[in-house]
Amino acid sequence: MASESSVCPRKALRGSPEERFAKSYEIADTGCWHWIGSLKDSGYGCLNVGGRTEYAHRFAWMHLRGPIPKGLTIDHLCRVRKCVNPDHLEVVTQKVNTLRGDGPSAKQARQIECIHGHSLVGDNLYIVPSTGKRQCRICRRESNRRCQTIYRAVKRAARLTAKLKGKSLESKGGI
Ligand SMILES: [Zn+2]
Ligand SMILES: [Zn+2]
Repeated sequence: MASESSVCPRKALRGSPEERFAKSYEIADTGCWHWIGSLKDSGYGCLNVGGRTEYAHRFAWMHLRGPIPKGLTIDHLCRVRKCVNPDHLEVVTQKVNTLRGDGPSAKQARQIECIHGHSLVGDNLYIVPSTGKRQCRICRRESNRRCQTIYRAVKRAARLTAKLKGKSLESKGGI
């Protein structure tokens, strides 16, 4: 069962969804069509369509643009959740939408500098094939070099230990 807050008020049921849609937004200076009908807790506008609660921006797209292909979602280019202007909307895959949002993967995807201030563009940008994570090549090289230095030091120590052991065996044998 949907919670009460997610259901649009009954008074909004008067008229066809298209008519109610047309009366339920205000055009802002930014060009956004601010939804003045019911809003979901998430901040997205909603509209009752044939007894079902539909997102207002999805309805805007379907009503003014056309069907939303299966598996695709509507993204707000203006990032205003209650905006229903189809010019501010775009049909994208769920992955693109997540990347454009404000989650950690989105922030990472938009990062233009590494933590050391090297710019994450062009040749310096390395995408880890298995995870899609963006990395700085300068820092990668630096950390590889550090790893190798440690590796070489460990090897040297091991060789030295082996040599010393060998010597002690020799000296034992010599007695
Ligand atoms: Zn907008
Ligand atoms: Zn870096």
